[in-house]
Amino acid sequence: MAPHNFRPFFTLVKNPRNSTNALAICNWCITKHDGLGAAQIKPECYTANRARFCHSHLAKCPNFREYNTNEEVQRNLSLPVPEDKKKRKMLSEEDDGIYFCNFNFNNFNIYIK
Ligand SMILES: [Zn+2]
Repeated sequence: MAPHNFRPFFTLVKNPRNSTNALAICNWCITKHDGLGAAQIKPECYTANRARFCHSHLAKCPNFREYNTNEEVQRNLSLPVPEDKKKRKMLSEEDDGIYFCNFNFNNFNIYIK
C-alpha cells in the first residue's frame, strides 16, 4: 500500500494490539511531549495509520497548529484523503439508487438498508 498524504507527519510504531496496522504517532505531538516514548502512550497523540484517521488527528491537533503557520495548516489539511474518493463514489452510486427509486420503490428501500 502506497503511503498516504499524511504519512510524512507521523512516525509509525508497531501496534501491540494489532500487528497488521501500525500506530501513527503525530510528529508534532512527539515534539510537544519531548519524545516518541511519551507520545505513544497518550491516546490523543496517535491514531491508526490510515489517511482518514491521520487527517482527523491533524485537524484537531493543537500541536500541529502550534508548530506550523496557518497557511501550512490549511495546505496540509486540504491534501486529498484517499478514502474520501471512495465515499464520493458511493454517493454517486446512491444517485443511481434514487434513479432506481423512480423505477421501483420497493427495491430502493432494500438498497438503502
Ligand atoms: Zn498531534
